[in-house]
Amino acid sequence: MNNDDPQKTLSPAHLDRYDPSPSAVPRRTEIRDVDDQTSRPFSGSAQRLFDRPLPYTFDGLDRDGLDRSDPAAIAAALNSPEAKILPVWRRRVLMSDDGDTLHSWPRDRLNEGDPLVFLGLRDGTPYFAADISAHENPETEGARAQFIDPWMVGPNLDPFLAGVGAYARHLLAWHRSSRFCGRCSSPTEAARAGLERRCTNPDCGEVHFPRINPATIMLVQDPSGERCVMARNHNFPPTIHSILAGYVDAGETLEQTVAREVAEEVGLRIGRVRYAASQPWAFSNSLMIAFFAWSETEALQVNTEELERADWYSRDEIDAHRDSDSFRLPRRDSIARFMIESWMASDPEPL
Ligand SMILES: [Zn+2]
Repeated sequence: MNNDDPQKTLSPAHLDRYDPSPSAVPRRTEIRDVDDQTSRPFSGSAQRLFDRPLPYTFDGLDRDGLDRSDPAAIAAALNSPEAKILPVWRRRVLMSDDGDTLHSWPRDRLNEGDPLVFLGLRDGTPYFAADISAHENPETEGARAQFIDPWMVGPNLDPFLAGVGAYARHLLAWHRSSRFCGRCSSPTEAARAGLERRCTNPDCGEVHFPRINPATIMLVQDPSGERCVMARNHNFPPTIHSILAGYVDAGETLEQTVAREVAEEVGLRIGRVRYAASQPWAFSNSLMIAFFAWSETEALQVNTEELERADWYSRDEIDAHRDSDSFRLPRRDSIARFMIESWMASDPEPL
């Protein structure tokens, strides 16, 4: 979970721009230099399934566009006038007040020692992210932009802007929390332009990779494919109902995780699963791996340690309830919402 309180920095404009329409078309996104008034338009194509964009998935950023093992090539790209450096301050990215633009910083605004990572090449332009958390009051271009946690505004953003902001946030947060080797406790240092850290103890040399927690999320249908399980976890915000999810245990396949979690949480026996999509969820360092699943059984045994409630819902019932005062769907940028809406738009498929 997010420990900051980014809400403090939000203007009403960001909250008012929430668009509940599931078919809302992503808007054009720009990344702009703070001193560059001739902004460069920038459109990312999102991963699409069932004709819907899935937030935080995006194409068009070539992560291996430069040789990460060649520090001179990375340094030359960083010092080139085209380089875009996205500042990340205490998990927040610099965004225009209307939420349409991610801003970059000129190199000379960085302090010596601010961690820097290479994100990738976009149409030949190198993109970097800098952790400027050590700055006390970083410049924001006056009233036109502010540092905002992408978690707070993700539902309003187009997939590319949300994705690159979340990617930078995840990678830099991992660097900050991985400064010592878990094997020998010596300091580590960034390698491969930010995709790895390596232990500085020559007798150890352990290589550390960004922590990513795989989690399954599953839309469980009855044998007819007519109804699905919606549940309320004790930790959910009031009235939110969602599908089941759980972290992958060591030694488990994804299919086994789905079956185990469903059995643990609602007592159903899974007969079939089908992979649907995946989504990086930077806010808990997770990779969400989504499945459509079919239960062989229908009697729900709700595990009240984990869940407040769980029930079967038909497509019509979800449609009738949705966004009522007592039944709301998960946030619009979540893969849970994507799975629910995809299922509602599809014809029933039996086990
Ligand atoms: Zn070590």
